[in-house]
Amino acid sequence: MAGYFTKMVPLGYEELHLFHDPPSGLKAIIAIHNTALGPALGGTRMFNYPTEEAAVEDVLRLARGMTYKAAAADLGLGGGKAVIIGDPARDKNERLLRAYGRCVEKLGGRYITSVDMGIDEKDLDCVRLETEHLLGESTAGNPSPYTAFGVWRGMKRCATEVYGEPGLEGLTVAVQGLGGVGSALCRHLAEERARLIVTDIDPEKVKRAVELWGAAAVEPGEIYGQECHIFAPCAAGAVINPETIPRLKCRIVAGSANNMLLDEESGAALYRRGILYAPDYVINAGGLIFVDCCRLGITDPEEIRGIIARLDERLQAIFRRSREEKKPPEVIADLIAEERIYSAMKA
Ligand code: NAD
Repeated sequence: MAGYFTKMVPLGYEELHLFHDPPSGLKAIIAIHNTALGPALGGTRMFNYPTEEAAVEDVLRLARGMTYKAAAADLGLGGGKAVIIGDPARDKNERLLRAYGRCVEKLGGRYITSVDMGIDEKDLDCVRLETEHLLGESTAGNPSPYTAFGVWRGMKRCATEVYGEPGLEGLTVAVQGLGGVGSALCRHLAEERARLIVTDIDPEKVKRAVELWGAAAVEPGEIYGQECHIFAPCAAGAVINPETIPRLKCRIVAGSANNMLLDEESGAALYRRGILYAPDYVINAGGLIFVDCCRLGITDPEEIRGIIARLDERLQAIFRRSREEKKPPEVIADLIAEERIYSAMKA
């Protein structure tokens, strides 16, 4: 474990657990970053990490991100994350998942798990056999439409900021990725008569978007250079980077992709170019809010959408402070989240 306290202490991590279950071969790591606002929620990622250090790096980075995301969404939750080291296609089975469930159970509810890459809702049904401390199993429903709803509402706030009104009718939105979130977002946008330019590496999804919503289709590499009002990354992370930023012909970047900015400098470069960026973990929190509503027993979709729609006020506050302090919105989003966490820690 040499060096791990060096990583944990400066960034305020609370716990880092290594679990090994000899009968199933499970190797899992659970990181709890901060529980000042509530139990640490974060999905479980299963991935064949090249080294143990890479797995620890990932779980620590992701756990901290969850703290900010939950704080920014004003939820009574902290941040945590888990990784299972292994190839989901080869190593995942009921014995391993149940062993993992017992690990989560041992933490007594300080960590609540959910889905992530390599672990889906059906896997959580297995984990559920050993622990109650999870959210998002197959009976809970799909969070993607709620994430898309939040992104759509967030775009309206961005449009108000840049064009003076929330209506998206007649605006052109370039959507990268037509998966669970991207396709649901397109539906909202098409209903509002926004013009769509779409791309996906799966040609079937593109064909469907053209047929359903009259979208214009472009090749994946061409999406960055499209003349549009809003660019909506809804696929992979790190797509806003030194290579793509000079190509952008939009006034707003607002989408669901996690960790959209390659790094801090990429956010600063967008800001210098006058392109408004909706901080990813603020605008894509709809799914997390939905999951939290399930935890709190709120099941009415209308009520849930009403709660998600409040991210409009959060973005408004971020953009206002960004103007006042002359700092990029993602920097302000981090500051606001930190203020919330520190005041809870003091209390
Ligand atoms: P998904 O896997 O359902 O869809 C992703 C889509 O992107 C797929 O159709 C895939 O073919 C496409 N894609 C992948 N690489 C591409 C590329 N280079 N160019 C164009 N298309 C590409 O995922 P999702 O659930 O829709 O999530 C999309 C993004 O939003 C991810 O970054 C995810 O982490 C983030 N996110 C999702 C949720 C949620 O509720 N699902 C919540 C928060 C954040």
